[in-house]
Amino acid sequence: MDSFTYYMPSRLIFGAGKLDELATTPWFPWKKALLVIGAGGAMRRTGLVDRVVNLLSSRGVEVIVYDKIRPNPEVEQVEEGARIARELGCEVVVGLGGGSSIDSAKSIAMLARNPGHYWDYIATGTGGKKKPLNGALPIVAITTTAGTGTEADPWSVQTNPATKEKIGWGEDCAFPTLSIIDPELMVSLPPKQTAYTGMDALFHSVEGYLATCHQPGSDLYALDAVSRIAKWLPVAVKDGGNIEARSQMAWANTEAGIVESLSACISHHSLEHAISAFYPEVAHGCGLTMLSVAYFTDVAERNPARFEDLARAMGEDTSVLPAEQKPFAFITALKKLIAAAGLEDEKFSKYGIKKSDIPALAHNALTAMSGGFKVTPVKQEQADVERIFARAYS
Ligand SMILES: [Zn+2]
Repeated sequence: MDSFTYYMPSRLIFGAGKLDELATTPWFPWKKALLVIGAGGAMRRTGLVDRVVNLLSSRGVEVIVYDKIRPNPEVEQVEEGARIARELGCEVVVGLGGGSSIDSAKSIAMLARNPGHYWDYIATGTGGKKKPLNGALPIVAITTTAGTGTEADPWSVQTNPATKEKIGWGEDCAFPTLSIIDPELMVSLPPKQTAYTGMDALFHSVEGYLATCHQPGSDLYALDAVSRIAKWLPVAVKDGGNIEARSQMAWANTEAGIVESLSACISHHSLEHAISAFYPEVAHGCGLTMLSVAYFTDVAERNPARFEDLARAMGEDTSVLPAEQKPFAFITALKKLIAAAGLEDEKFSKYGIKKSDIPALAHNALTAMSGGFKVTPVKQEQADVERIFARAYS
C-alpha cells in the first residue's frame, strides 16, 4: 500500500432539524459574523436568512449579511466581502446556501486576513501563486444543497471574468471549522437543481476514486457515496419532500467532500470548468453530466482499472460480463442514473456551445485547471481533450 496524508479537520453536525443547534452549540464562540448568501433572494424568501440571524442573535452574535454571490461566483464579490469583513471586524464568516455561497465565504475569510487581490493567491492559470501567510478567519458552512461537498473540503471555486478562468483555490485554512448539514434545508430545492447537484456529488466521488492520489480512506467514502447516490438521487428528484432521500443524498455529498479532501477531482472537472467559464449559465453539475459519458468512456478505454468497482457500487452485476466489458458496466450505470435523474436531454447545443469552441475550451481546461490532469489515470494533451469534447458533442 502507498503512503498518504489524511487530513479532514472540519467538525460536522449532521441531521434533520440540526440547524437549531446554531443557537446552542459550544463550537460557535464568535460574537460578530459576516453571513454570506446568494444574490437571488431565495434564502430570504424561504425565511432561512431570518432564521439563521435569529438563532445567532439569540446567543448574542451580531450578524452582517452580504448578499451578492452569484451562481458561478466571481472575484469582485470576494474582494468586496473581504473588505467588509475587515472594516467591520468580523470574527467569523458564515456561508449559507449552495456551493457558491459557501465557497465564497471561504475565499472572503482568507482575503479578509491577507493583503492584495484574491487572484494573487490562485495557484494555477494566471494566478499569482502566493500563499495566504495569515491563514483565514474561521469559516462556518450551512449547506442547503447536496452537491459540492464544500462543507467537508478546503475548496473554493471562483471565476475571473477578465481572464475567463474558473479556478479552484484551497488551503488548509479554508476547511470549515464547523459545518451544519441539515437535510430539512434541502427539501425545497427544485428537481432540476437536485439532479445537477446530486450528479456533481457523484462525480466528486467517482473522480476521487479514479485519481492516482486516492487513498484507503477516500476509497471507502467514494464507493459508499456512489452507491447511496445511485439509489437515492432518483428518489430525491421525484419526491423532494422525502426526508430519507434528502438525508441519504446529504450524507453522500458530505462523503464526496471528504473524498475531495483526501483524494482529488480529475480532469473531468477541468473540462467542465472551461465550459462554465465560457458559458456561465451552464450549471456545474449539468456541464459535468453532458461531458461524463464521453469522458469516462475515453478514460476507461485507455485505462480500465477501478471502473468495475464503481459499476458494482452503482448496483451493476458485473459477474455475468466478459472481462473486457466489466469496466464499461460503469458507463451503463451512469447512463441509467442520468436518465433516472431526468437529465437525458441536456446537450451542448441547448446552451449555445459551438463545435468551433472546442480548441479554446480544451486549451482553457489544460491551463486554468492543470492540477486535475496531474492526477488523472491517463495522460491527456490538447488532442485528447479535444477528442473528448468532440465525443461529448455528437
Ligand atoms: Zn464539482
